[in-house]
Amino acid sequence: MSILDKFWGIFSHDIGVDLGTANTLVYVRDKGIVINEPSVVAINQKSKQILAIGNEARRMVGRTPSHIVAIRPLVDGVVSDFEVTEQMLRYFIDKVHREKFSLFPRPRVVIGIPYGVTEVERRAAEEAALNAGARQVFLIEEPVAAAIGARLPIQEANGNMIVDIGGGTTEVAVISLGGIVASRSLRVAGDEMNQDIINFAREKLNLLLGERTAEEIKIAIGSAIELKDTLQAPMRGRDLVTGLPKEIIVNDEQIRAALKKSIQQIVNTVRTTIEETPPELIADVMGKGIILCGGGALLRGLDRLIKQATQTDVHIADDPLTSVVRGTGLVLEDLESLRGVLLPTKSRF
Ligand code: ADP
Ligand code: MG
Repeated sequence: MSILDKFWGIFSHDIGVDLGTANTLVYVRDKGIVINEPSVVAINQKSKQILAIGNEARRMVGRTPSHIVAIRPLVDGVVSDFEVTEQMLRYFIDKVHREKFSLFPRPRVVIGIPYGVTEVERRAAEEAALNAGARQVFLIEEPVAAAIGARLPIQEANGNMIVDIGGGTTEVAVISLGGIVASRSLRVAGDEMNQDIINFAREKLNLLLGERTAEEIKIAIGSAIELKDTLQAPMRGRDLVTGLPKEIIVNDEQIRAALKKSIQQIVNTVRTTIEETPPELIADVMGKGIILCGGGALLRGLDRLIKQATQTDVHIADDPLTSVVRGTGLVLEDLESLRGVLLPTKSRF
């Protein structure tokens, strides 16, 4: 690190970003999480203008006139819509920078990206952040960031297994000595569960549901295993027969059946990853248990189902929706000793 960099370092507020498929979170060094908003951008297709980003854009989902679209630029975890991602990132970086530190130099940025993305995709994320106003960009694999955020001792020669169930993808990784030893990624996670509920409503109840309604039902009564008490929720949509609004009360058993296939795929992915992990590391994981994070970790009973299926203890990370961004924050606070876990980028120390 040059003297100049050290000098700037004192004054600039570095930021960590979790660019999730469902939610984008921003951590500012010494301040904590300052932004936690949906990864949604509303665009006017006629003028190509961005109308809203984050919470405001999400309120528009499913409620826009035909020339306005609400886009989730990271649907499968990678930068699928480069320009929109860049603008979204710029908006969030600007928001932090402008509100609080306009006199300071541009920030250094640590970004979590999904494991296994291609070199090209990695460079896209780095470019997006540089174009969005970052002075220096560091990339870290999301499962590694999540493990750091969950305070796992990932730099030791000891296996740690982390399962991150987000919106677009489920990522399973075994980490040792700061690197990923075995991993699997599955394009089935929270979004797919919402879709399962939409399909169930259409096929079994003749009810057309919106995506947000499906997600609310999932969070309100969704589960992976049988519950002690029955849960119920009203499901509101359009009756496909009459075309009129209709409300039907559904229970946890119906929703569990709807989610079953997706959940089985997630469980199978965890099992397959275990089968591919070297035995010494499996012994470590057995001792410590599997750590679940991401919003999907909050689905009722998923931890117990995975425990049954793997014969291994399972723990849900504290505040699983923020594990990755807190991990990027810890990296910022300690760039020196954690630099070994970062991916190579154009930015240097
Ligand atoms: P990403 O990292 O891909 O942005 P997140 O980790 O933010 O994803 O998780 C978002 C997903 O978690 C969404 O699909 C959301 O519906 C789901 N989710 C959030 N809370 C719950 C809950 N209590 N039960 C089940 N799923 C949940
Ligand atoms: Mg995530």
